Amino acid sequence: MQQQTFLVTGGAGFIGSAVVRHLVRQGARVINLDKLTYAGNPASLTAIENAPNYRFVHADIADTATIPPLLREEQVDVVMHLAAESHVDRSIDGPGAFIETNIVGTFKLLQSALQYWRELEGEKRDGFRFHHISTDEVFGDLPFDSGIFTEETPYDPSSPYSASKAASDHLVRAWGHTYGLPVVLSNCSNNYGPFHFPEKLIPLTILNALEGKPLPVYGKGENIRDWLYVDDHAKALATIATTGKVGQSYNVGGRNERTNLQVVETICDLLDQRIPLADGRKRRALITFVTDRPGHDRRYAIDATKLETELGWKAEENFDTGIAATIDWYLENEWWWGPIRSGKYAGERLGQTA
Ligand code: NAD
Repeated sequence: MQQQTFLVTGGAGFIGSAVVRHLVRQGARVINLDKLTYAGNPASLTAIENAPNYRFVHADIADTATIPPLLREEQVDVVMHLAAESHVDRSIDGPGAFIETNIVGTFKLLQSALQYWRELEGEKRDGFRFHHISTDEVFGDLPFDSGIFTEETPYDPSSPYSASKAASDHLVRAWGHTYGLPVVLSNCSNNYGPFHFPEKLIPLTILNALEGKPLPVYGKGENIRDWLYVDDHAKALATIATTGKVGQSYNVGGRNERTNLQVVETICDLLDQRIPLADGRKRRALITFVTDRPGHDRRYAIDATKLETELGWKAEENFDTGIAATIDWYLENEWWWGPIRSGKYAGERLGQTA
């Protein structure tokens, strides 16, 4: 098969860097466009940064002067749009950046992609795809004991973050319907795994538990999330971007529902087995219940049947294997998380994302 060229936005972030590493290792040509906000970390790309099929471009998705010439110069086949403000707690404290990047930024990127696509001809034009990467949080809140999100579930976002992602999904669909831009969308459940920024629930818990620090859990820890290992998501995204049907959306999830308390307790128990605390305490004793997040959705759960049956993707990790691999990775890679923990983020309110 002919080598395809991907423009990945947000490729220095958690999921974007997994996508970039995967595509580069598959032999695709990858242009990573990232603004390097607090969440973007070039160290996550050390393993592939010198590969001949990889290029980094430091830019904003809203930069309509830079992006159309870049798409032309690189003869891009697929845009995978992951760049976003992604942390729910930050969206509650300061929603402005979420509107700016997730909505206005996506609008401007769509305009850049449309301008480029309109200039293409023949097979190159037919083969072009704009893949928008989104979240299951656009579907809102499920009861604890019933329901599951399908591609037909109506949008009902609860937080400034999920509302901004819902808006961007609508814009992408509108650019498909109105201007004919060949778009495809995916909505994924919560990701976890290596290179996850230490403000999020799983890495925060692993690192605090390692150091014997308190483990904050919102409310009573009853909220349920459907966890997917990040490398499984990266493979799903590569599948959707290259074989997904134009105009369609695909739900991505691994059928691994856990309450937040179960997640934290699992990490405590696995770490106790590997590295007992010096004072003999069990790490579950470190769990500290804190005031719940405002508007905290109770439960998310994804039905990924369409992606599994139509495109043949299936998650390879279950939660037990994935969380063990994640803990191993944090134990072995202090070079990556150490500077973040000890640096400017250490004093901030470290929340827990959905
Ligand atoms: P992240 O916060 O780790 O990374 C976001 C990246 O985007 C960073 O590298 C940042 O520098 C970059 N960025 C931000 N604003 C930019 C701008 N204006 N221009 C260019 N680059 C910019 O996010 P993530 O967790 O990797 O999520 C990636 C995408 O996947 C997001 O769109 C998110 O909504 C979606 N998603 C995330 C999850 C999850 O569990 N993390 C689940 C489903 C969907």
